[in-house]
Amino acid sequence: MPASDTPHTPDALDALPAGVERILAPNPSLMTGPGTNTFLVADDTSGAVVVIDPGPDIPEHLQRITEAVASHGTARAILVTHGHPDHEEAAASLRALLGAPVYAWSRAGVAATDVTLADDAVVAVGKRQLRALYTPGHRFDHLCFLLEDADTLFAGDLIAGEGTVVIAPLEGDLLDYMASLRRLLVLDPRLILPAHGPAIVEPRSVLEYYISHREARERQVLAALAHGPRTVVEMVRVIYADVDADLHPVAALSVLAHLQKLEREGRVHRQAVDDEERWSLGA
Ligand SMILES: [Zn+2]
Repeated sequence: MPASDTPHTPDALDALPAGVERILAPNPSLMTGPGTNTFLVADDTSGAVVVIDPGPDIPEHLQRITEAVASHGTARAILVTHGHPDHEEAAASLRALLGAPVYAWSRAGVAATDVTLADDAVVAVGKRQLRALYTPGHRFDHLCFLLEDADTLFAGDLIAGEGTVVIAPLEGDLLDYMASLRRLLVLDPRLILPAHGPAIVEPRSVLEYYISHREARERQVLAALAHGPRTVVEMVRVIYADVDADLHPVAALSVLAHLQKLEREGRVHRQAVDDEERWSLGA
C-alpha cells in the first residue's frame, strides 16, 4: 500500500506493452492512492488471457474486467500478488465469473488460492510467459510477476507509482523487503507496473531511491542510539523533529520496523526497563 495519494498520470498508460491492459478499480484512498491497478496480459494469437490482482470485490470493477477479458479471448488464470484485500478480495468472485483458477504464493496468504506458485514458477499466457518472483517484505506472501518477452515487472505493492511503500511491523519485514528490492535491482526490468499509481519507466533510479531512502533512515536510527538506550518514542522525537507530531505514531511504526531489522541482524537489542522497552546498540 503506498503512502501517497498522488493522482494517476494518464500519459503513463502509453508505456504499457502490447497485450497488457490496465483496469483501475474504483477504490481510491490514502492507502491505495488512485485505486488498485488490475492488469490483463493477453496473447492475442491464441486468445489466452491472465488477470493480475483482481482487486476489490466491486461489481462494476468485475464487469469491466470480464468485458476486457472477453475482448481478448479466454481467461486461463487469475494471479494474486499478495493477500491484502485491495488486491485479492475479488479473487473468488472473479473465479466464478471467468472459470479460471486463482494462483498465489500460499493459501495462508490468499484464502481463494487454487494453485500455489513457488519462486521462479512460470505461468503460460498462450506463447507468453509470466515468471513468479517471491519478494517478501511488504507482506510474507508477496509475489511479483515478470512478463519475460516485454521485460516488464508487475510489482504489486513492492514499489508504488508515487511515493514509497509502508513497511509496518507485524505484516511487514524490512530485512526481507530490502533483499527483495535488491533482487529487483539485479533483475533490472525495462518497465515496472505497480499495483497503485502510474507505470515506472525508469525502474533502476526508483529502486535505487527506495534503497537509499531506507538506508538513510537506518543511519538516523543508529545515530539516535549513539548516546545510550532509547525508547521508540524518544527516537521519533529526535528523528522526526521537523515533522508534525500528529504523524509521530506512524513514524514510530517505521522506526520500529528498522529496529526489528537491525535486531535480526544482531546490530541492536532491546531491554525492558520499568515497563518501558529501551533499545541499545550491539547484539
Ligand atoms: Zn498490500
